[in-house]
Amino acid sequence: MPTDADQILQTIFGYASFRSPQKEIIESISGGDDALVLMPTGGGKSLCYQIPALLRNGCGIVVSPLIALMQDQVSALRLLGVNAAFLNSTLERDEVASIEHQLKDGTLDLLYIAPERLLQNRTITLLQETTIALFAIDEAHCVSQWGHDFRADYLELSLLCELFPEVPRIALTATADERTRREIINQLKLEHAPHYIAGFDRPNIRYRIALKNNTKQQFLRFLKNEHQGESGIVYCLSRNRVDQIASWLETQRFKALPYHAGISSSKRAEHQARFLREEGIIIVATIAFGMGIDKPDVRFVAHLDLPKTIEAYYQETGRAGRDGLPANAWMIYGLQDVIKLRQMMQNSEGNEEHKRAEQHRLNAMLGLCEITSCRRQALLGYFDEHLSEACGNCDTCIDPPRTWDGTEFARMALSAAYRTGQRFGVNHLIDVLRGAETDRIFQFGHHHLPAYGIGKLLGANDWRSVFRQLVARGFLSVDIDRFGALRLEEICRPLLRGEAKIELRKDPDKVSTKRQTRNPLPSDIDTALWEALRECRRSFASELGIPPYVIFNDASLQEMCLMLPTDFDNFSQISGVGERKLEKYGAAFIAVITEHLATY
Ligand code: ADP
Ligand code: ZN
Repeated sequence: MPTDADQILQTIFGYASFRSPQKEIIESISGGDDALVLMPTGGGKSLCYQIPALLRNGCGIVVSPLIALMQDQVSALRLLGVNAAFLNSTLERDEVASIEHQLKDGTLDLLYIAPERLLQNRTITLLQETTIALFAIDEAHCVSQWGHDFRADYLELSLLCELFPEVPRIALTATADERTRREIINQLKLEHAPHYIAGFDRPNIRYRIALKNNTKQQFLRFLKNEHQGESGIVYCLSRNRVDQIASWLETQRFKALPYHAGISSSKRAEHQARFLREEGIIIVATIAFGMGIDKPDVRFVAHLDLPKTIEAYYQETGRAGRDGLPANAWMIYGLQDVIKLRQMMQNSEGNEEHKRAEQHRLNAMLGLCEITSCRRQALLGYFDEHLSEACGNCDTCIDPPRTWDGTEFARMALSAAYRTGQRFGVNHLIDVLRGAETDRIFQFGHHHLPAYGIGKLLGANDWRSVFRQLVARGFLSVDIDRFGALRLEEICRPLLRGEAKIELRKDPDKVSTKRQTRNPLPSDIDTALWEALRECRRSFASELGIPPYVIFNDASLQEMCLMLPTDFDNFSQISGVGERKLEKYGAAFIAVITEHLATY
């Protein structure tokens, strides 16, 4: 086993150099320090504990929330020649005995374990008899009671500090907000640990948010134009909708599988496994899906309903493009989403303070939807990261939205809401403004109001857009107890007094059809070779019962297509080819390349 970090990176993992701040973290932990690591999904967190575990004496213990995913992580490490194992309830008794034996012997490099198992007396006793290199607490944001991935077992991990004061502990997460960070530090007793915060930008992800008018049609066009045959995740708000969208996608000849808490756990495990192992599967899910999913070639994440917070949106979209190749974060939303979400929040358990905090976070999410400047700048800004220039890779950068002076119409809208007693929803208010002759108008005498019929210049859809933006920007609030009645908020005053103006976003007639400028393949790659290499990868993977990307990921295959290595020396230069993989797979992949070149 090599003895310094650079050597391990190159010979075992097959990578040329560290990404910032991996090296620093590895040095500090190898020296015995604790650490708090915040890095975006796909940033390269795993190496930060895997390499120190190899450098230090003893076994590295990795606490990870999802049993189902441990197996793939362990398989990937074994392919690299690292002696890794997992301990969970799926193992037979003799397998457990063998692991315990290796632990005591000091021959195991890394052990993956779920928190509930770790905290059992039997395991603690075992670990007390073992030399432990470090504890890595993955997905550390699971300690956060405010977050959407809360795990009660994670709270008890503070015990590790008391029982093993000498062992370095490293907590890792991709959740960046300040409050979660504080909770991790408190709960895991990491007050003295240095923080390592990597930039949160994911430049290969293209953010796009459009107005919802016909969900299925819009989504289908997106899939057909840009993601035929590729893997992706679709998020919906409710279980019903998940089932409906998944079966509809099937009728459109996409391979789609539903995933939510109402599906039996064995079925869920099966769907997850197929998503990881097969290519071109679309998972349609509620938020219950995705944490800890390491699949690197998820080419798109689509939100068909509005997420509740920017944190959730960022985490979910972050599951796209971990391999660094171009990926899409695509979302559509409308006023109905806002109303539905507010309703869910209103009916949720939790005290008033909690509900207020939720409303705030939803408002920030709405702000992101309606923004007319660069989305990435706004997103990163939310996490206190400053991007000095517009990104050029989001919809507002590529296709800048037009704005118009909506002051006068906004005043009409507010006045209609006010004059009708703030008791009516958007449809009725539009009827008032457009001078409609409905029963309700006459029943309430609204045809006598000064606002009646003053808005005929705008069509109903344009009015919807005005109301939506007024709600999204907090001028109007939606009263859920009164069937979506719109109420004026304090910030309306300057606008009503004529002291302020409001610029509104012009809704596009159609969703932008400008595509992500990709094919995942650069244009100079020969698709025949690409397919042949994929086939080679697939056959090794299915033989071993592991996902294809564990053999080599798409980025490595693309490099092979470009560099065309035909001997071991050149093949070993490909990113992701370490000594073990060179030895095991080099010959087969070189043969594919050589054969391909011979056909010219
Ligand atoms: P995270 O856990 O932060 O989401 P991973 O540890 O799974 O990210 O790493 C994401 C991808 O980046 C993996 O395919 C990993 O092998 C690759 N990677 C990590 N560090 C490096 C590096 N220094 N050079 C090249 N690739 C790297
Ligand atoms: Zn941008």
